[in-house]
Amino acid sequence: MRVYELARELGIDSKEVLEHALELGLEVKTASSGLDDDSAELLRLAFAPEEETVEQALEAGPTEVAPAPEAVEPPQRAEVDIASIPEGATVAEFAAAIGQPVAEVVKALLNRGTPAGAGQTMPAMTIDEIAEGFGYIIEVEEAAPAPVVAMQPEFEDDESDLTTRPPVVTVMGHVDHGKTTLLDTIRKAHVVEAEEGGITQHIGAYQVDVNGRRITFIDTPGHEAFTALRARGANITDIVVLVVAADDGVMPQTVEAISHARAAGVKMIVAVNKMDVPGADPLRVRTELTNQGVITEALGGDVPSVELSALTGAGVNDLLEVIDLIAQLEDYRANAKAAASGVVVEAQLERGRGPVATVIVQRGTLRQGDAFVAGPIAGRARALMDDQGGRVEQAKPSDPVQIMGWDDVPAAGDYFEVLANDREARRVAAERQDSDRAEAHVAPSARDRLEGLLEQLRSEEATLNVIIKADAQGSLEALRESIAKIGREGGKIQIVHTAVGGINENDVILAEVTEAVIVGFNVRPEPKARRAAEEAGVEVRTYGIIYELLDEIEQLLVGQLAPKREEVVLGTAEVRATFKVPRAGTVAGCYVIEGVVQRGAKARLLRDGVVIHDGVISSLKRFKDDVREVQSGFECGMGFEDYNDVKDGDHIEVYVVREVART
Ligand code: GDP
Repeated sequence: MRVYELARELGIDSKEVLEHALELGLEVKTASSGLDDDSAELLRLAFAPEEETVEQALEAGPTEVAPAPEAVEPPQRAEVDIASIPEGATVAEFAAAIGQPVAEVVKALLNRGTPAGAGQTMPAMTIDEIAEGFGYIIEVEEAAPAPVVAMQPEFEDDESDLTTRPPVVTVMGHVDHGKTTLLDTIRKAHVVEAEEGGITQHIGAYQVDVNGRRITFIDTPGHEAFTALRARGANITDIVVLVVAADDGVMPQTVEAISHARAAGVKMIVAVNKMDVPGADPLRVRTELTNQGVITEALGGDVPSVELSALTGAGVNDLLEVIDLIAQLEDYRANAKAAASGVVVEAQLERGRGPVATVIVQRGTLRQGDAFVAGPIAGRARALMDDQGGRVEQAKPSDPVQIMGWDDVPAAGDYFEVLANDREARRVAAERQDSDRAEAHVAPSARDRLEGLLEQLRSEEATLNVIIKADAQGSLEALRESIAKIGREGGKIQIVHTAVGGINENDVILAEVTEAVIVGFNVRPEPKARRAAEEAGVEVRTYGIIYELLDEIEQLLVGQLAPKREEVVLGTAEVRATFKVPRAGTVAGCYVIEGVVQRGAKARLLRDGVVIHDGVISSLKRFKDDVREVQSGFECGMGFEDYNDVKDGDHIEVYVVREVART
């Protein structure tokens, strides 16, 4: 059945059903998207009256349907036509599909605050509404999944064309060390005056004025944004400000940030923050940094450091002075005469404004009216706004600027470039969409990488880089010590990063950049992290028994390891409701997200990435029936052998273990 049919049955808006379906993680796009029986049932459950428990609803089976209140009203839109368009169709194509003059559709778009011309791509988020307005249900034929980014080319500009540009600065450091506060303080005190007194807008980056020169700050603190951009091949940062709280010292994310800044080869300035706090100990911070190989100028090294309080503002000017000084010494320059190109740093859909994205221009000058492409998305700069919300006519190298006029939302990290005209921009976008579809992503497998690493370790002075994640601080400390000890006895080992918690995407990116192996003790990779690791060829090993972990690391160190047992993850499910069943204990109402779940298979129960139970699936039901397996996209009831502590939101990872002979 289709979404709108279910909506009618339940007596509610298609939109409401769609919203709920998305919340449940169902793959639906429009009111005319198809729903299989299970998804429909899941949605009926979601809209079931409060008193009815999930169990009752499950028992009721898929056929019984609550009487729709709408049934008693006269049918409002008995006649609905269905039309279909390919994803990315233009306004004109859309108009043709629903048999309307183009002008009518353009008018409707304008009324909804998403103006678009006949040749532009129909804005995705208004398609349903507008079609409905003309009495149509529209089917959007889906296009291929996420495309690969076009990389920034190397430009060889004539020396005489180069002019000074502001430095681009990213603030990184451990959580709660004051990154956000610092960015806010800098912005408030030094913001560049807007031409027409606007209100500060968060557009992902801003500029401040220091000694009559500008500095650009990326105002998404932390290395998530930095690494996400880097992982897509975009290097926009010139200087990293490493914030370390003087009352806390070097912490795991401080270390991560250092590794990232190093790997990116950017300048670093240490900001010793929270100097106003009693007990602030800047010397301790500097000493701890030395252990990470960051030697500040105060200790005879070459890394500038500034003591400050982001909260009171004391010392913040000194930091800006140091940045300004470095900028003058480094003399960052770019060609402002060329057609503009740069990187998307932030993008989203905005009500009434359509897709907007902030770009940091790296080369050339961007002007209102320019046609452009970023990744597979084309557009025309209808309006340019600065971080004050004021309209600007143009943006030069290192300027952050928010652009309106995209055909769709681009991805952060996408390379942006201005082309000769709309047609050229759309042609390039279409080409990229096609080639992305054709191109399979080939990455070295974790196995290949590990083999290469082992080869190195066997032969010479190589270091085994390790990232350790564990379920608790206690086990983490124990592991860190034991692993460091193996390192001293058996060879060279470098612990890149340690932390409590599940293995996340950040760990994978860090492992990729530092060529480390990730080991997890009683924790598992989040599904996204697992996919990222597979794609990047990062080796992730997880253990539930300490000596097995230590044993394997020891073997890795001497360069010989073959897995003795190989685990195959069959699938993952998410717990959406739990209910007590007499004699059977707690049964988890689950939705299978990925792969397949099987009765009798082994399963780990994960809460926030931490393994809280490892056991066997003892019962598996679809509605009232016992079944052997359930595929992804379906709902099921699951019970565990001798285990009842299941909660909403838990993930269940279903796996089997295969014995593999050592080679
Ligand atoms: P972030 O996680 O690194 O972005 O840290 P925040 O900027 O959110 O700061 C975390 C907490 O530390 C907040 O409660 C801030 O008010 C506080 N904080 C930040 N900088 C300072 C400072 O210089 N002095 C003091 N006393 N507190 C600060």
